[in-house]
Amino acid sequence: MKIKTALTIAGSDSSGGAGIQADLKTFSAHGVYGMSVITAITAQNTQGILGIQDVDPDIIEKQIKAIFDDLPVNSVKIGMVSQIETIQAIYNQLTRYQPKFIVLDPVMISKSGHHLLKPKSIQTLIKFLLPLATIITPNLPEAEVITQKKIHTYQDMEEAANKIYTMGAKNVFIKGGHRKEDATDILYDGQKFIYFKQQRIDTQNTHGTGCTLSSAIAANLALGFPIEKAVENAKKYITIAINHSLDIGKGVGPTHHFY
Ligand code: PLP
Repeated sequence: MKIKTALTIAGSDSSGGAGIQADLKTFSAHGVYGMSVITAITAQNTQGILGIQDVDPDIIEKQIKAIFDDLPVNSVKIGMVSQIETIQAIYNQLTRYQPKFIVLDPVMISKSGHHLLKPKSIQTLIKFLLPLATIITPNLPEAEVITQKKIHTYQDMEEAANKIYTMGAKNVFIKGGHRKEDATDILYDGQKFIYFKQQRIDTQNTHGTGCTLSSAIAANLALGFPIEKAVENAKKYITIAINHSLDIGKGVGPTHHFY
């Protein structure tokens, strides 16, 4: 059998729970060969982020070129993109190589409250990367920023999904982890809304859940599953990963990946 491959374009988390490290662990757990383009280096642990160093846009473009000129890429996941120049570098190369599947996780602020996307870069992300997305995976606060509207009810979630769809993403998956009542997510493909009902899991160790979910979707797309099934499989994966999350470090521990 020919190995499937996935590429993550994202930031490094020194504590290994989120970012590039979570993505590569997720790809491996799915039997998918993982590759990475590092956009930023964070000095980080379970308690927070001590510093962020953005990678030079020129070397970001070269990393993407190095991969696509040589290796097969069955799917791409985009995570932390930090600044305008980074977004433009990614856009330049992805429009050149046109990968079949792009999962865009519009990462904005970490659970510890740090900006992983500079506020002035948000419109650039919406203008350049959102229309390239096979699927975009905002959580509720991110969907609110993108649509400029508060989200409370399921109806609000559907309206936000529809609005983000009209902005150019081919599928919109709004994650309900920040809902007060339950953690239900909604997938919209431009025609129908699919609800993924989910009770809240009682744990504080949820560092890296968004990264893990989006890279699990990318892994499933690389393996050949259609969107709806890829999301369903990724939901099962993240639910197990949260159920077995690790109580390590003094702060918010990471999810666990099974091989
Ligand atoms: N660090 C990096 C590099 C990330 O990409 C992300 C999320 O995408 C985080 C940290 C945030 O992780 P969390 O908000 O799950 O703690």
